[in-house]
Amino acid sequence: MKTAEATATRTLQHWIGGTLVESQSQRYGIVTNPATGEVSAHVTFADAADVERAAASAKAAFGEWRATALSRRAEVLFRLRNLVDANRQRIAEAITLENGKTLSDAMGEVARGLENLEFACGIPSLLKGGYSEQSSRGVDVYQIRQPLGVVAGITPFNFPAMVPIWMLANAIACGNTFLLKPSEKVPSASLLLAELAQQAGVPDGVFNVVQGDKVAVDALLQHAEIKAISFVGSTPVAKAIYETATRNGKRVQALGGAKNHMLVLPDADLDMAADAAVSAAYGAAGERCMAISVVLAVGNVADPLVEAVRQRIGRIRVGAGLEPQSEMGPLITREHRDRVASYLDSATSEGAQVVADGRSEPATRGEGFFLGPSLLDHVEPGMRCYNDEIFGPVLSVVRVETYAEALRIINENPYGNGTAIFTQNGGAARQFQFDVEVGMVGINVPIPVPVAYYSFGGWKSSLFGDLHMYGPEGVQFYTHAKVVTSRWPDPGGSKVDLGFPQVR
Ligand code: NAD
Repeated sequence: MKTAEATATRTLQHWIGGTLVESQSQRYGIVTNPATGEVSAHVTFADAADVERAAASAKAAFGEWRATALSRRAEVLFRLRNLVDANRQRIAEAITLENGKTLSDAMGEVARGLENLEFACGIPSLLKGGYSEQSSRGVDVYQIRQPLGVVAGITPFNFPAMVPIWMLANAIACGNTFLLKPSEKVPSASLLLAELAQQAGVPDGVFNVVQGDKVAVDALLQHAEIKAISFVGSTPVAKAIYETATRNGKRVQALGGAKNHMLVLPDADLDMAADAAVSAAYGAAGERCMAISVVLAVGNVADPLVEAVRQRIGRIRVGAGLEPQSEMGPLITREHRDRVASYLDSATSEGAQVVADGRSEPATRGEGFFLGPSLLDHVEPGMRCYNDEIFGPVLSVVRVETYAEALRIINENPYGNGTAIFTQNGGAARQFQFDVEVGMVGINVPIPVPVAYYSFGGWKSSLFGDLHMYGPEGVQFYTHAKVVTSRWPDPGGSKVDLGFPQVR
């Protein structure tokens, strides 16, 4: 039900078959501006009937879109790329208003999304198959890749435009029709993308947006017409979605949470390591799945590194994302902010030391969901602040004596999304790259998000499924391989042969 307040604010709707559609469900969520705590909009929540409507629209559009020439699809994607480029500011502002991240960070998110659209413009080359002439006498074999049909994506609150584009670009480039269920906390960016896609010439029904919560997700997981699910979000939800959707016969890639370690060797450049740790821990208020949340300080680097990080924290400007001077915005909700802050208490009671306490940040006194950058030292595996994905501006320092001890800690962690090593020793970095059980590794790079022509994905509890997202593995995910064996013999030589076909 809409609250009284709801009638006073605009209501964000679904986008189905090329037009805005309100649900019949009479279920709504609220969208808040995390910088002020104010309700900025209401969002309609889908039920199974809305998902059915969207899936029917996507199914109806599939045949014609699939048959559209590759170069035509590339042309449409190219126009979409240009429209997103021209509307960077508008999209970024919508992101900042609902997510809270700074405008410059939101602009960076759109820029990384653009890379994925650019990659997808190469779809005619990406879908080239292989051809083997004369694999037997007079017989040729070739492989083609065909779209799956209707595919769906479910996305998190922390990248309202980039993660939908990760999925959307390759899904439709490959000839599928796509149904997006964005995070209910940040519904606007997806609607902007849908509007731009229509302007770019994406036919109605090829890209649909269904707003909502678990009810909408459950309907997607049950829908027989939906052939594949891409998910990005927290690990428990990723695991549950992977299990349900695969049981229902769907192809699934479900990316989960993270606990990313940055290993600092004693020979690292201290200032560079401190700059990197602060940037990667507190950018986007720590609400990035590739944020650094643990620094493993090896040997005598620990004391000077903690001091260098502490000094830099004091200079971070916390404030509303639209304020040009702000470097770090609020967290997504009040509940989440309070949960993140609770780790500062539990850390103390478990024996860690609070070096910087973000609760003393002046911005926390307003109605927005702010927490200042916080630093914990002498953290150890087993403590709550180490074990949990905090997903906020809290950086933990774990002190270790050796590289081997640091490596063991990283490899024993259940997550395996990103990691980084800071050192001036190429041999040590090479060894780390070889040893570490994590999907994305940075060498003197704190946030190693792969460029769009590689693929993004973690290991262990950070990804359920076989294929990583976007890039070449994204193309694989959104297509079936089909292998054709063909011959054009003279029918005169034809005879019955019950033997198993062999190469002649
Ligand atoms: P979330 O798991 O709460 O929500 C993600 C999506 O799932 C949303 O669309 C939401 O509506 C839906 N959802 C939530 N609970 C559900 C349930 N019980 N059943 C079905 N659907 C449900 O995640 P979030 O809070 O939006 O995003 C933060 C999380 O996402 C963090 O854990 C972060 O590490 C992770 N993340 C991972 C990556 C990655 O690439 N690995 C990228 C971004 C974010």
